[in-house]
Amino acid sequence: MAVVTSIWAEPANTPTALLLLGRGTDPASERGVDCPGDLPAPSDPDLVARATAAKAALGDRVFVLGHHYQRDEVIQFADVTGDSFRLAQQAAARPDAEFIVFCGVHFMAESADILTTAAQRVILPDLAAGCSMADMAVLGQVQTAWEHFEDLGIADDVVPVTYMNSSADIKGFVGRNQGVVCTSSNAKRALTWAFEHGSKVFFLPDQHLGRNTAVLEMGFDLDDCVLYDPHKPGGGLTDDQLRDARVILWRGHCSVHGRFTVDSVREVRERVPGVNVLVHPECRHDVVRAADQVGSTEYIIRALDAASAGSSWAVGTELNLVRRLALAHPDKQIMFLDRTVCYCSTMNRIDLPHLVWALEELVAGRVPNQITVDGDTARYARVALDQMLALA
Ligand code: SF4
Repeated sequence: MAVVTSIWAEPANTPTALLLLGRGTDPASERGVDCPGDLPAPSDPDLVARATAAKAALGDRVFVLGHHYQRDEVIQFADVTGDSFRLAQQAAARPDAEFIVFCGVHFMAESADILTTAAQRVILPDLAAGCSMADMAVLGQVQTAWEHFEDLGIADDVVPVTYMNSSADIKGFVGRNQGVVCTSSNAKRALTWAFEHGSKVFFLPDQHLGRNTAVLEMGFDLDDCVLYDPHKPGGGLTDDQLRDARVILWRGHCSVHGRFTVDSVREVRERVPGVNVLVHPECRHDVVRAADQVGSTEYIIRALDAASAGSSWAVGTELNLVRRLALAHPDKQIMFLDRTVCYCSTMNRIDLPHLVWALEELVAGRVPNQITVDGDTARYARVALDQMLALA
């Protein structure tokens, strides 16, 4: 086996100080809500034992899902780990579990509620664990855009496609308008399907996934894509621009993946000769073009599993996952693409104190932080989700 001497090194300024521990409200955050519980102290040395005991007491009544971007202290209690789509599937595949504790962010828990039975309860240990990208597309704004398309006479040509990373409201809107949900793994298939049903796609909320898929995987030009800014009248576009566009991209992005730059790629290539740059398609278009490989979270995990010993990789995705992959593959040099910290702060809202609190509440017979999607929204969101599942 090749010996690699420099494996994981924490980026400069890595800071647990950045990680919000969920006490108090944060009006600027996605949900701006307080955790109603009496949380254990983060420094409590008994937290692991308390989580273990509470989980054991609940037995098969509880199923804990852990997204790849979660902290290690939380992931160790997950019954299954995965990306948002895999976790939603896993939740749906466990109809006997009374409680689904979702260690992820709000839109994921909503999808789990939509895909599970009415008897199951989905719990998000900290309600402030939102997603800044999902919150960049608000239903009222999207409806305003659609009405504008109707006024222009183009709505019948437009098929809406929303990334999994969107609220249930937006998925419901897409289902009502004969569209489809996609993930970063199947975005090309979803766009291909959409273009079989219309001549334009309205892609929500991640402009980068939409642009990267349309241009790099489907052969569209950048000029075929326009950017709809919900904060400007008419999206900041002329009527002719909207009529001519093939792909109308919503002006949303991931604040984590949006931090990577072409300079990050150039810098790591200079520092590590022969390095392979592997990025997520939520990264900016110029960054994806500068990288060697692009793929979803699950793709990144498979690529690093399959990489040869001694190879070097700079990975552009969330830091918790990159760190875990580096530690899991000591025979490969796996590093974070950027020198600065890039945790997803809302994913990190779910910490061990919140998980312990949620599990202990369930043991005590109380259901904390239940996530529910209203029936009408859930029904139409399910139409769009089922359409995605039906894609070949
Ligand atoms: S990494 Fe980006 S898309 Fe994922 S939850 Fe965080 S902000 Fe949202």
